[in-house]
Amino acid sequence: MKLHDVGTRRCRSIAIRGGVALAALISISGCDPEAEDEQAHQDDVDEIVDHLLLAGYSEADISIQTMDVDNDDISSSGSLVVLQGDIHVTLETAQAKAEEATNEFRLWRTPLLVNPGTICLVAVETTSKITTGINDAAANYNGLSSFGLDFEVRAAIYEPLGGRSWQPVVQYDRSGCDHSIQIWDGVDRQGGLAGFPEQQQIGRGIWITRPYPNIYLGSDVEGLSNQVVEHIVTHEIGHCIGLRHSDWQTRSSCGGSGEDENSAVHISGTTRSSHTSSVMKACYSGSESGNLRTEDITALQQIY
Ligand SMILES: [Zn+2]
Repeated sequence: MKLHDVGTRRCRSIAIRGGVALAALISISGCDPEAEDEQAHQDDVDEIVDHLLLAGYSEADISIQTMDVDNDDISSSGSLVVLQGDIHVTLETAQAKAEEATNEFRLWRTPLLVNPGTICLVAVETTSKITTGINDAAANYNGLSSFGLDFEVRAAIYEPLGGRSWQPVVQYDRSGCDHSIQIWDGVDRQGGLAGFPEQQQIGRGIWITRPYPNIYLGSDVEGLSNQVVEHIVTHEIGHCIGLRHSDWQTRSSCGGSGEDENSAVHISGTTRSSHTSSVMKACYSGSESGNLRTEDITALQQIY
């Protein structure tokens, strides 16, 4: 089972290998303390790279080339963003390419989808803030029309040495639950972590696909806004029921590199391009609304 996580948008660091003689291996870092004008130039370079990744170009297509000009008329040096070896891309061009790409959109799912039914979101002794986030996330999904999954929130008690013996027990009302996802908070990590649907044998020769059964929320999540908590829980539930990152090819929302394809299936009805405004983008910012976007709704109604 491949686990999936969400990181905060922090220092960007992308190593890009140039393919021609002038190119150098350069690490672009958004958090090195530098002189102000150098920083502004570096920010432009970062922004151009972000736009190109958003437009669907791969890192292999993009190089940073240092250009020194020193003759009677001009003396300057700086970094240029170069596409496919010899095409210099300005900020304006990169913005236009990204804008073009955002007119098209696609979302992705895992090959396995969950058997329809009621999924109980089991809040395992979560704080009131996290519980609110879980309720809000459930409401996001329950508010969808023509959608084959229902979500109910159940409070649970965790007994580390409960039950009949050594086995830890999560106690909650299981009535009406076709599936369950246990949600744990205060975990020693940042952001959220979940996984993809998996097959489960429920009888002789009878298999169903259930959601990934756990969502882990890092200890930092408690300090985030209610909307961001709602966003994170909604995002992780999305993974548990089979949604992939919308920007898995580029992780452009994180300024990072792409993920393995790992059998990502294009969800029909979502058009073709990369995009980062989905609740399923790989990284979140502090300004998330917590709500599903139009494209997320299209995707969810398509698969369930
Ligand atoms: Zn994720």
